[in-house]
Amino acid sequence: MPLVVQKYGGSSVADASRIKNVAARIKRRADAGDRVVAVVSAMGDTTDELIALAREITDAPEARELDVLVSTGETQSSALMVMALHALGVDAISLSGAQAGMRTDNVHGKARILAIEPRRVREEIDRGRVVIVAGFQGLTETLDVATIGRGGSDTTAVAFAAALNALCEIYTDVDGVYTADPRVEPGARKLKDITYEEMLELASKGARVMAPRAVELGSVYSIPILVASSYNDEPGTLIHGGVDMEGFNRVRGIAHDVDVAKITIRGVPDRPGVAAEIFAPLADAHLSVDTIVQNASKEQLTDVTFTLAKNDLARARPLVERVAKAIGARDVVADEQMAKVSIVGTGIQSAPGYAARMFRTLSDAGINIEIISTSEIRITCIIPEARIADAVRALHAAFELEKAEASELA
Ligand code: ADP
Ligand code: ASP
Ligand code: MG
Repeated sequence: MPLVVQKYGGSSVADASRIKNVAARIKRRADAGDRVVAVVSAMGDTTDELIALAREITDAPEARELDVLVSTGETQSSALMVMALHALGVDAISLSGAQAGMRTDNVHGKARILAIEPRRVREEIDRGRVVIVAGFQGLTETLDVATIGRGGSDTTAVAFAAALNALCEIYTDVDGVYTADPRVEPGARKLKDITYEEMLELASKGARVMAPRAVELGSVYSIPILVASSYNDEPGTLIHGGVDMEGFNRVRGIAHDVDVAKITIRGVPDRPGVAAEIFAPLADAHLSVDTIVQNASKEQLTDVTFTLAKNDLARARPLVERVAKAIGARDVVADEQMAKVSIVGTGIQSAPGYAARMFRTLSDAGINIEIISTSEIRITCIIPEARIADAVRALHAAFELEKAEASELA
């Protein structure tokens, strides 16, 4: 019997009737003869609400306790899902991340998966049960609950699919991966398939439909991931490792992210070792920095600019101010109202014209580019947050993404 690991996101389990809808879908799948493990997210905005509640108590909740709190969101939906399955006559059981065998390190809020020990999951499947796993959470070596980062239920699902050698299906509130966020560009088009590399770039640059670490895991363990809707039976998008012959040399999608803040350290003495001094304390505090640029120096002084998540700014700023002082830099300025827009496609960096067309399009729309960064298959521009929707739409039109691809017309 085929084994499938499915994942249902927060909006798909947002209230009782949606939970019943998902339970009915799981039942259909089990009735068709598949063995089903389903990973569930917290209901709707529960995770955000729990974080906000903690902040009403204190500005700086201890990371361990915050994890104890937010992990309850997934626990709640797992139990409710099993009740809904029982009501339909389906034999099912809920397991917390710990019970299901998700082992993590102890970096609370951003824990990394160390191992999946799915013994209990296997036993329950062998008993003929549907297993509902609470996503996003694991257990540390010291038996504490740790969460694995926002959007982490996607990662839970791919990790279990790898450990159980199962199919992997991510069900969400859109019916696949689109050429841009369909909420921002209504003309966005659903992709039939996409490579891990392209999906990873889109995801890590803000296409929230898949968590980047889930895509990374899928790629490492060669797990094809189907992204589809939990509301309808439209064909979804397959994320896979095959060669994308048709896709070579063109833009496949546009990602955007408004969760961007920028810090500039001005007047940094240009000597060996300063960059290391600046970024070491941020790394020690587990603050991830995104795009970094250092300007050419004038009279032995340079400016260093980097971006990070808006939420991390309050913690990062004092650390940066301290090093700036220590290394004799002039001052530190920060801007919270930033965003980034990226075009992604295999081969676009080596092919001439893509970068130029991107910059021309933004300039024609009167959008100022503050920072540019590239990878082999991506070009990203940091722009003011207020213009992000205009930027996505203008680029979607400029790269003719609304048109069906040749392979899709066949
Ligand atoms: P879930 O709660 O199921 O995990 P998310 O809200 O995390 O769902 O992700 C789904 C959302 O991702 C969609 O509603 C859509 O607005 C957004 N999104 C961003 N970029 C894309 C894209 N390229 N294709 C599809 N959806 C996208
Ligand atoms: N509930 C968690 C979050 O909101 C994990 C997830 O939904 O994937 O980030
Ligand atoms: Mg998600």
